[in-house]
Amino acid sequence: MSPQKSSSVQVASPAFIFTRTGNPFVDSGLAALCILANKKEPSEITLDDLKAQIDYITRLYSGKGWRDAFHGQLFPNAELVNPASKDGPGQYRAALAQYLEQVTPGPGRGNCISCGQRDGIPVEKTRVPLLGSGKLVNFFPAGSQGERFCPNCILAVQFMPLSIEKVGKPLMLHTMKWKIQLAYARKIVGEARRREAAKQQGLVDTGQKKPAGVNAVYAAIEDILNDERVAVEDISNLAAPLRFYHFSNYNQGPEMDMYDIPSAVFEFLTEVHRSRSKDEWRRVVARGFRKKKKRENEEGLFKTTPNMVYQRLTKGESILYYFLAGEFKVIGDWNLVSLYLRKVRRMDEKQIETIRRVADRYLEFSKETGSIKRITQLHWAKSYRDFRSALLRVQEELTRRKGESLLTFDEYVLDLAPEGGASWQETRDLLLFRIYEKGASWLSGKKSELEQLASNEAELEEQT
Ligand SMILES: [Zn+2]
Repeated sequence: MSPQKSSSVQVASPAFIFTRTGNPFVDSGLAALCILANKKEPSEITLDDLKAQIDYITRLYSGKGWRDAFHGQLFPNAELVNPASKDGPGQYRAALAQYLEQVTPGPGRGNCISCGQRDGIPVEKTRVPLLGSGKLVNFFPAGSQGERFCPNCILAVQFMPLSIEKVGKPLMLHTMKWKIQLAYARKIVGEARRREAAKQQGLVDTGQKKPAGVNAVYAAIEDILNDERVAVEDISNLAAPLRFYHFSNYNQGPEMDMYDIPSAVFEFLTEVHRSRSKDEWRRVVARGFRKKKKRENEEGLFKTTPNMVYQRLTKGESILYYFLAGEFKVIGDWNLVSLYLRKVRRMDEKQIETIRRVADRYLEFSKETGSIKRITQLHWAKSYRDFRSALLRVQEELTRRKGESLLTFDEYVLDLAPEGGASWQETRDLLLFRIYEKGASWLSGKKSELEQLASNEAELEEQT
């Protein structure tokens, strides 16, 4: 069939009222609506589903806890919370009923900035967060009082409070992988229903403070990975970047922070979650909580302080240091570390293998000489020059004593110190990880020497 012929065939489209749009507020709302209506895709939602669920949310939101959330952080000045209105819930219900009357099926074409399938009505922050006030005419296209959202999309956004969590302020996920979007909404709707049964009202609250936003993001990812429908999916079907919006829609000074979780990080976390290294990974993460006071515990810090491992993973910075537990010990095993290197650091197999081999030879050499001197030299290397000098010494001694080589020039330039040694610290941490992992029993026999060196180092640290 030629392309011209196929385009001329008229296929009757099913009349669906919703599709995924790419707008985070609308898509989040659609995910919650799908869970409430027990549908897999927005396109499966019928007008009857929509009516029934609008009934449900208008009843739910009329509780005081929800009205407070609307007023403070979600939809300021909405009918529900307007002090001027006598029957807020009734007026809100009437407003939604009016939009419901205007709902039209797709597909079509229009100027709604979210779906582009029908024409929009200018709305402000009362209906969709972060739009500002309608009075900010210059902020909107063509001098209109607000941004154009169609009735379908406006209604979808009203379900968004059931797919976000409160971490000091609302935290919302947006991803193009619908299964993930749905899994997060499933968890939150479930939690909201439990709260409702227990006569609790308002947003699902994680109990964490605003600065712990990044911890809440990674807890959300764990919840997603625990979802039974996600758990059976092939990893290749789940790979996608995730974006979390941490926002508020205050009348005065709305806020917005974003956490972008690269696809590579999500893939890594998924593999770890399904592997035997899961508990070891928890220990690595626990090292990212910095205790300032003795009585601070991990649980308390999780609620208040950003975890360094999570923060660095999100920013694309190396977390290899956190696999080294101090006192020349490691957390996790070579499998976990090499998974991290392959998935997140995009290190190729050959490079990982060369570093492993060099570390093994380095340890063997130290055992042969009976001294931990070269290992501690590598451990305390403070500059690229120190790092290079430690390797060179072993290379020289190996050549002199046994006519052997630690590594070739190519291996050094391409695998250990690529880009002129820009990532030497990461390579050093990796060499040490392998040395401490493989040499654990031999090193434990060298405890007194290690303690001596550690106290020397402490003095040195004090002086600098
Ligand atoms: Zn729309």
